[in-house]
Amino acid sequence: MKKIKPDIIKDIIGSNIEGIDAVTVVPVIPLGDAARKVIESIEKGFVPESYHWTREKTEHAYRYKNYSAWARSVIVAAISYYTDEKYPKDQLTGRIARFTWRNNYRYLSLKLEKAVKALGKTLGVKIKSKSLSNYTSLPEKALFNYSGIARFGKNSVLLNRDMGSYFVIGEALTDLEVEFDRIDPLKPPDFSPCGECERCLRACPTGAIVQAGEIDIKRCFQYISENLILMPVSYREKWGNRLYGCSECIDVCPFNRNLDPRAPKHNTGYVGQGVNLIEILKMGAEQWERLFHENQVGIRDKNAILKNAITSLGYLGYRKSLKYLLSFLEHENKIIRAYTAWAIGKINTKTGKKRLISRYKDETVDSVRTEIEPFL
Ligand code: SF4
Ligand code: SF4
Repeated sequence: MKKIKPDIIKDIIGSNIEGIDAVTVVPVIPLGDAARKVIESIEKGFVPESYHWTREKTEHAYRYKNYSAWARSVIVAAISYYTDEKYPKDQLTGRIARFTWRNNYRYLSLKLEKAVKALGKTLGVKIKSKSLSNYTSLPEKALFNYSGIARFGKNSVLLNRDMGSYFVIGEALTDLEVEFDRIDPLKPPDFSPCGECERCLRACPTGAIVQAGEIDIKRCFQYISENLILMPVSYREKWGNRLYGCSECIDVCPFNRNLDPRAPKHNTGYVGQGVNLIEILKMGAEQWERLFHENQVGIRDKNAILKNAITSLGYLGYRKSLKYLLSFLEHENKIIRAYTAWAIGKINTKTGKKRLISRYKDETVDSVRTEIEPFL
């Protein structure tokens, strides 16, 4: 089959699929120097061991090893998730980061699958393809940087003039032979859209943005919110009322001012702006599954989210939550017991102190005893 021009692909997608904010097609590009920053971060210990992410895996992804036998071109697409919905003023609604209000990754992947079907039908060819979004087996962000749709900000998040950084990206690898003008290697980030700005570096509550484009993931509230790990007390003092995620480095970015709230309020994996923190403590397995099963929160360990709610209640010092928190002092998981002890201590009541003293007598795990000690 004759090679297809990229503009024809874009036109077919544009006239068949609604709601994709930006789309283009790029070649399966040689690695170049783009993986360097990721590899440096691994070597500096900024990538948690639990990711099992190595230099070899990075190069594997940047060389498209899973797909290179057949993939010839990549359709890259982005959709805005910026709507006019607002966070409730009520502090007891545990905050969910904006990009998780819905499952925008799944929403975009489904659109890309439809786009490839429309292409096949219009061109009269059978297309082999794989649609992805939020996937580590591809150098997603580097591809977008290459495509020109978006550039890297110093917070390591992609920026686009129309959508700011409130957008998600997705790709469809295809075996379509496309007539590209030139095929350059992937480029490393240059952060040029940011100029002298450093707002995100200053706004990050934990100093996780070590320097332009370099994130110490272990310090990042997004990572901490996703995992059942014991964060330092100094971080808990900055936790706020988070239930899932953090987007402070995005929210302060000047690229995200005065944006058009263009995103559809779709229902794919919808959970909304937050969930009541007490409800989280009381929620049974069935209700949890109903609420989160199609959303990114649902793929996390329930105890990781529970610890976020407990930390928020401790941060808020919300006295009425004490009666619900007390039972978590006996939780089978030592990390949950540790956070609960801290939260009860912060709430600072006579009943709470009595229960901490009694727990301290029975507690055999040193890390939990250490959490209780300041409040005895
Ligand atoms: S998501 Fe939050 S904690 Fe992570 S780098 Fe951004 S501001 Fe810092
Ligand atoms: S806040 Fe400033 S430095 Fe950070 S990504 Fe936005 S423009 Fe760049």
